[in-house]
Amino acid sequence: MAIHILPETVAAQIAAGEVVERPASVVKELVENALDAGATDIRVEVQEGGRRLIRVGDNGCGITASEVELAFARHATSKIQTIDDLNYIHTLGFRGEALHSIAAVSRVTLTTRQQNEPLGVQIHIEGGEVKSRRQLGTAAGTVVTVEDLFYNTPARLKFLKGATTERRHISAMVTNYALAYPAVRFSLHHEGREVFRTYGTGQLSDVLVKMLGAELFRDMIEITPQQPAHGDQPSIRVHGYTSAPHQNRANRSHITLFVNGRVIQDSSLAYAVTQAYHTLLPRGRYPIAILMITMPPEEVDVNVHPAKAEVRFRNPDAVFSAVQRAVRNAVVGQAPSPAVRLPDFGHSYTPGWQDRRERLLQAGTQHRPAPRLELEAAEERPFQGIRGELDDNALTAIPEGPGRPLKPRTLPVLRVLGQIGATYIVAEGPAGLYLIDQHAAHERILFEQLMAERAAQKPIAQQTLEASTIELPMSSAALLEENLETLVRLGFDIEPFGGQTFRIRAVPALLAGRNPAEALRTIIEDLELGADPGKAALEEQVSLHVCKAAAVKAGQVLSMAEMQALVQQLERCETPHTCPHGRPTLIHISADQLAREFGRT
Ligand code: ADP
Ligand code: MG
Repeated sequence: MAIHILPETVAAQIAAGEVVERPASVVKELVENALDAGATDIRVEVQEGGRRLIRVGDNGCGITASEVELAFARHATSKIQTIDDLNYIHTLGFRGEALHSIAAVSRVTLTTRQQNEPLGVQIHIEGGEVKSRRQLGTAAGTVVTVEDLFYNTPARLKFLKGATTERRHISAMVTNYALAYPAVRFSLHHEGREVFRTYGTGQLSDVLVKMLGAELFRDMIEITPQQPAHGDQPSIRVHGYTSAPHQNRANRSHITLFVNGRVIQDSSLAYAVTQAYHTLLPRGRYPIAILMITMPPEEVDVNVHPAKAEVRFRNPDAVFSAVQRAVRNAVVGQAPSPAVRLPDFGHSYTPGWQDRRERLLQAGTQHRPAPRLELEAAEERPFQGIRGELDDNALTAIPEGPGRPLKPRTLPVLRVLGQIGATYIVAEGPAGLYLIDQHAAHERILFEQLMAERAAQKPIAQQTLEASTIELPMSSAALLEENLETLVRLGFDIEPFGGQTFRIRAVPALLAGRNPAEALRTIIEDLELGADPGKAALEEQVSLHVCKAAAVKAGQVLSMAEMQALVQQLERCETPHTCPHGRPTLIHISADQLAREFGRT
């Protein structure tokens, strides 16, 4: 093929790919334009996750009639003049690419009027070509409607995820701008239904309550801008909210960072936030944080990427330590005072021992729901202690007593001796010592029960005594709606109850006795970590999450009877040696091994 210059439209479509990756990118650019136009009221409407339609309306300054076409030209902007202006960016946009890019890959209608002009203009563009233009009476401000995104770039269209996923990205985008601009009223509508609204009170906390729900918000610690410490770069300010250490999450995606009103991705700063919790969070857990970092515009380069999602700092170390210190001060200032230290007798106690000891003393005397940890009826317990060289397998032949048919044994009969660290059960078997991970073992038991119930198509739902409601953060609410059907198949009965609230009327029988809302919250949080594509079917994955939520936790003190029940049930699991995630449930130290260790052989 001979070398030739690409036609204008093709070049524009290629360039658009950098700015418009998915419907949420369109929302981002249009909302940024509205904010740059000084709007105090921004309304976002979406249909079919933005594939069908995205409409962003604002009450900002509008575009003067004579410049409407120009706004769609490539590199057309009213925000900078010279390259030096890039050093002092006070606006969200500056590249003059967004409208041009969006118009190249969709059908756009823009209606606008400047305050001091009597009439407004409406222009319709398809695939970058102006199809019509007319004057009309309209409210001051701008409304941009984007229809049939990627209609002329099928390759792009193919990569779009389902409507629910795109909807989730859009919701997250709008929420982020609402957080960064609490003085602006935002509303978001999906398929004509209002899903999010803020009132422009100027208070970050008001928006955060909307986003997280009042319940979770109560566990957030405010970070107030601090007086700069000696040697600090005084110009870097940090404020926002971060979660109390007990409110933590399994990944970093709940840390949201803003620099000068712009959401940014920066793994180093996310690390600074986590670091600030040093020793306060369990390993592999992360806080929820919303941080607003402000600094003079010349300290930060926002022109790193066409989507403006990454920035470069002139002094990254100063930003890192400012963030870390702000979060640390807030968290340490609020964290509960450390428990009274035990007198030191030269022993080192395992962590949390004192507290566990208290609970141990009370275990069994307190009523506490421990679902499905009742002893099975009248099971013979033939094994009472180590009997020399008895073969494990010999015991599987022991006939079972009357009552319901028991599944065949897959482990020898074990005698429970006690619990270590409120995490492991110590048991004795015919061939030595067994250490059982109580959580992993219980997960295995529940998983097999759930699979059996599913196979038998037994009704596995259990009505909750009182319908309980749960208020979820916006992103979790969307995820719940996406997985509603699967959850129903597993025995949940959940109905949307307006906004981010759901009513739980039944839970899988496995979860009976648990707080339904708490269990559901754990499952959703787990789901947020994302499915392993290609691994198990979605239903099985959700089943795993249900079992994880229902199982006794590490750190939970169990009574003797509870431990016995757990071990009895594990003995009859089909695959007792691993939990459903593949971790071992038990460690066996043989009588021989013990004898060797003690030099008896
Ligand atoms: P940029 O935002 O980088 O300048 P855009 O392509 O997004 O580039 O927009 C081009 C120009 O159109 C902007 O500089 C601005 O002058 C004008 N404009 C776009 N959207 C709006 C709006 N909602 N209200 C007022 N002016 C707008
Ligand atoms: Mg713009």
